Amino acid sequence: MKNAVITGAAGGIGAAVAEKLSSDGFRVFVCYNTSKERALHLGAELLCCHAAHLDVTNPREIEALFARIEREYGAIDVLVNNAGIAQQKLFTDITDEDWEKMIAVNLSGVFYCCRAALGSMIRQKYGRIINISSMWGQSGGSCEVHYSAAKAGVIGLTKALAKETALSGVTVNCVSPGVIDTPMMSPFSAADIDALCEEIPMGRLGTPAETAAAVAFLASETASYVTGQVLGVNGGLL
Ligand code: NAP
Repeated sequence: MKNAVITGAAGGIGAAVAEKLSSDGFRVFVCYNTSKERALHLGAELLCCHAAHLDVTNPREIEALFARIEREYGAIDVLVNNAGIAQQKLFTDITDEDWEKMIAVNLSGVFYCCRAALGSMIRQKYGRIINISSMWGQSGGSCEVHYSAAKAGVIGLTKALAKETALSGVTVNCVSPGVIDTPMMSPFSAADIDALCEEIPMGRLGTPAETAAAVAFLASETASYVTGQVLGVNGGLL
């Protein structure tokens, strides 16, 4: 049974990815930061699912957890770097603290997790890393400069790392969601959502399950010749 680690797995997209990978036959590690109850609930509901605390800004905790997984269950076969935060602010209102936190969670967290998982992937000459970027990392989002910069960084990291690890059997790809109906959208009013839907060619928000399906493809054997790519799940918005 292959092992899949998902960060931020108690959230909207993360939980859908956990459900999908579990139903695809993976042993799933549902990593949470603050949402312990939701993670434990998910862990109890899904087959072969383990919940574990993981703050992606803490490299020591990441290394310790990944080493424990490898010791107890074998190599990490699939890593889904999904944990993320968002914030809407005018560029001129972004503080040093806002900037540093955004980069720490959304970009440094991806770097630390990739680094901690890669050793065992390279040793077994097999691995699938899927990083959740964002459409705003591709196009730039107004009032989300720090978020857009971090998510663009994730795309750069993905493309560069994919080249380095290709001969080692490790693929590295991004899923780049557009506007997905999750708790991350809670700061937006119903009127904001309606206005967004008018912009989206498909006329609606995406679902976490639709995003998870793209992740599952990249995690699968079927995607064996796909690396360094950015797979948009955005209803035609980009
Ligand atoms: P969400 O429901 O808010 O989930 C985000 C998860 O990230 C939370 O469950 C949270 O964990 C976790 N997280 C935050 N800080 C963390 C930290 N320091 N360490 C570990 N985990 C941390 O939002 P979502 O929409 O599912 O977002 C999932 C990913 O998709 C994010 O990377 C987001 O940027 C990306 N995305 C979302 C959209 C969208 O429209 N929703 C669009 C493009 C990209 P806890 O709850 O355990 O604290």
